[in-house]
Amino acid sequence: MTSTSVLWFRRDLRLADHPALVAAAGAGAVVPLFVLDPALLGPAGAARTAFLYRCLRALDGSMGGRLVVRAGDPVEVVPQVALEADAATVFVSADFGPYGRRRDTEVGRALKSAGRRLTGIGSPYAVDPGQIRKADGTPFRVFTPFARAWRAHGWAPPAPAPAAVPWVGGLASEPVPDEPAVTATLPPAGAAAALARLEAFLAGPVDDYAQRRDRPDDDATTRLSPYLKFGCVHPRQVLARLGRTEAHEKLRSELAWREFYADVLWHQPESAREALQPAMAAMEVDTGPAADERFRAWTEGRTGFPFVDAGMRQLLGEAWVHNRVRMVVASFLVKDLHIDWARGARWFLRNLVDGDTASNSHGWQWVAGTGTDPAPYFRIFNPVTQGKEHDPEGDYVRRWVPELAGVAGGAVHEPWKLPGGPPAGYPGRIVDHAAERAEALRRYGALKSEG
Ligand SMILES: Cc1cc2nc3c(=O)[nH]c(=O)nc-3n(C[C@H](O)[C@H](O)[C@H](O)COP(=O)(O)OP(=O)(O)OC[C@H]3O[C@@H](n4cnc5c(N)ncnc54)[C@H](O)[C@@H]3O)c2cc1C
Repeated sequence: MTSTSVLWFRRDLRLADHPALVAAAGAGAVVPLFVLDPALLGPAGAARTAFLYRCLRALDGSMGGRLVVRAGDPVEVVPQVALEADAATVFVSADFGPYGRRRDTEVGRALKSAGRRLTGIGSPYAVDPGQIRKADGTPFRVFTPFARAWRAHGWAPPAPAPAAVPWVGGLASEPVPDEPAVTATLPPAGAAAALARLEAFLAGPVDDYAQRRDRPDDDATTRLSPYLKFGCVHPRQVLARLGRTEAHEKLRSELAWREFYADVLWHQPESAREALQPAMAAMEVDTGPAADERFRAWTEGRTGFPFVDAGMRQLLGEAWVHNRVRMVVASFLVKDLHIDWARGARWFLRNLVDGDTASNSHGWQWVAGTGTDPAPYFRIFNPVTQGKEHDPEGDYVRRWVPELAGVAGGAVHEPWKLPGGPPAGYPGRIVDHAAERAEALRRYGALKSEG
C-alpha cells in the first residue's frame, strides 16, 4: 500500500543523491515542503538569504513548480502541512546542528501527538556526526586522527535518483519572498549550478589544487562551500569523483575538516559560541569605544594592512572569502586587535554566503587558539608576510583595494614603505603588528600562569 509523505527540505536543496527523497518516493506520493523559519533567517544577512531564495526557486523549477513554501515556526507549520496532505510520515535529511536538533525534537514530538512521525534519513555529511569515535568510544578532539578514522569508516556511494517522483501539487503555498537588497556578487544558485561548478573544477583547476589552494590571487579552489551549505550538492557527490592523486587527496582532506567540525559541534553544541577549551574563556579581550572603532575598521577593510583589508572587502563584495585570508583576517582581529573571536564569528556568519555554524565557529576557534588545535599558542599570523607569501604579485590586494591599484607588484603589501607613503585615500595602520603580537603573547602567558 502506498501513502503520501511530506519531504521537508532544509539543507538539502537538490533532487540527486537524496536518500530521504528516495525513501519518500518509495513510499508513494510526495509533498515537497520548505519552511521559511524566522529563527534561521534572522541571523542570516542579505547575501545568504538572497542565495537561499534563489536556490529555492531553482529547486521549485526542478519539480515543476510544486514546492510548497510556508513561513512560520516549523513546530506548527510542519504538522499542519502533514495534516493537509494526510501524510503519515515527514521525511527529512537529519540536522546535526544545535538549533536543528532542538527543532527536530520538537517537530517530531508534535507530529507524534497527531499520530504521525518524523523520519530522518541521511544528513549533510558523508558520515553523520557522532559516528566516528576513538577505540575507547570517546570523540576525537584532533583533526588528523579523526580524518584517518573517517576515511577508514568510509561512506555510501551517491544514491541513485528515483526514476520519477510522484510529486503532489495543490497545497497552498506562499511565493518565495522577494530578495533583500544585496550588494555582494553571488554565485549562480541551485543544484545545476553546483554540479556545473564541480565539473568545471574537476576538468582542470583541480590538478593544481594541492599547490595553488593557498593562493587567493588564483581561482584555485572549488568554491563549492555555498552549495555544500545548502545541500545543492552533497559531499558524497564530490567524494565519489576523487581518486588518489595528491590534489584529490587534499580536497578529500578539506572535506574531512567540514565533517570534523560538525562532529565536534555535535558532541559540544555550546562550542558554537563558547570556547571549546574552557580555560581559554578567561582570555583578556578588549571592549569599549576604542575596541568598537577598531572592530568597525576591520569590518570595513580600513585597517591599513592591505591583505587584511582586501579580505574584509572581499567578504562585503562576494559574501565569500578565500580560506587563507579567512585565517589571516581572523588572526588579525583576535591577536592584533585583541577582540573576542565570537564577535568576529558573528560578523562572518551574518555576511558569508556559506556561513555555517560548525565550520565558522570552529574555524574561528582554531585561529583564536580556543578550539581543536593542540598547538595554537605561537600561531600569530603576520599580515604582511602572509600577503607576500600567498599573494606575491599583489593581484589579490589590487583587485579588492582600489586605492592601491596603482602600486605595482608585491610592494602593495607595505604601502607605508612607498617613497611617498601610502596612496591618498588608503588608511594608515591602526596598530603596530610587532607590538600587538607581543601583547597577545603576554595575554596568553598570563592565562597560562593563572591556569
Ligand atoms: C575563520 C574561518 C571561518 C570559516 N567559516 C566558514 C563557514 O562559515 N562556512 C564554510 O563552509 N567554511 C568556513 N570556513 C572554512 C573554509 O574557509 C571554507 O570552507 C572555504 O574557504 C570555502 O571555499 P572552497 O569551497 O573554495 O574551499 P575548497 O578549498 O575548495 O574546499 C572544499 C570544501 O571543503 C570544505 N572545507 C575546506 N576547508 C575547510 C575548513 N578549513 N573547515 C571546514 N571545511 C572546509 C568546505 O566545505 C569547502 O567547500 C572558515 C574558515 C575559517 C578560517
